[in-house]
Amino acid sequence: MTDTPSARVAIVTGAARGIGAAVAARLAAAGHAVGIVDLDAETCAEAVEKIRANGGTALAVGADVADEEAVTAAVATVAAELGPPTVLVNNAGVLRDNLLFRMTTADWDTVMGVHLRGAFLTSRAVQGFMVEARYGRIVNMSSISALGNRGQANYSAAKAGLQGLTRTLAMELGRFGITVNAIAPGFIVTDMTRSTADRIGLDFAEFEASLVAGIPVGRAGVPEDVAAAAEYLTGPDAGFVSGQVLYVAGGERT
Ligand code: NAP
Repeated sequence: MTDTPSARVAIVTGAARGIGAAVAARLAAAGHAVGIVDLDAETCAEAVEKIRANGGTALAVGADVADEEAVTAAVATVAAELGPPTVLVNNAGVLRDNLLFRMTTADWDTVMGVHLRGAFLTSRAVQGFMVEARYGRIVNMSSISALGNRGQANYSAAKAGLQGLTRTLAMELGRFGITVNAIAPGFIVTDMTRSTADRIGLDFAEFEASLVAGIPVGRAGVPEDVAAAAEYLTGPDAGFVSGQVLYVAGGERT
């Protein structure tokens, strides 16, 4: 059965580059007007231009997803300029990796703030539009690291927390025609994974080869692999899929 969305407006956070930019492009190609939210509106220009060049509609909005006032303002801007948002992809993310004894409280708070508080604030700001429309799709970007990863106590806790948030929001919002799911990517080639290779002093090709060795499908992921999953979960045909975590990880450890 296909649900009927009353509006085709999506918000993707952290969408200036990487996975978020690919998700935004894919949702625009599927017919959504997309609010590209990232820390600085100017960094969104390339993602916005790419969508417009393909005939789509996109708007750059600067906001720190951990900042309540900024999130409220960003969602209001999208609603005013593009229409009421009924699709939300909580994708913004940062890393502050370190072993526990070296992890600072600021490292912990920053990662929790962007991933977990950010997804909470943005979902809360958008849900009213979805409830009113009796239609909505929320996708939270978790990670295979939710299952535990050395050096990522903050990140794995935040990504596991997102899975709990996902299941709970699915229970609360289902009655309004709103589905809430998570995608848990494995190793995806983006600036985030390039910076991890830099941080541990490995050449990226070497870093990639070491990780691909543990991936059953025998390759690294690309942002488009995640975008394809996001298009399905945010689409009108996925109305009976909610509270799920879809691992997009090439078969690794799930
Ligand atoms: P990325 O290339 O680093 O992109 C992340 C984007 O989020 C950047 O544009 C960044 O802006 C933005 N951002 C950071 N903090 C923000 C904030 N407070 N408010 C708004 N935007 C913010 O990372 P990616 O690899 O595409 O990752 C996207 C998501 O997938 C993240 O949630 C990540 O944890 C998750 N993920 C990635 C992988 C992977 O292998 N790449 C695997 C599993 C899960 P700036 O550039 O200005 O910092």
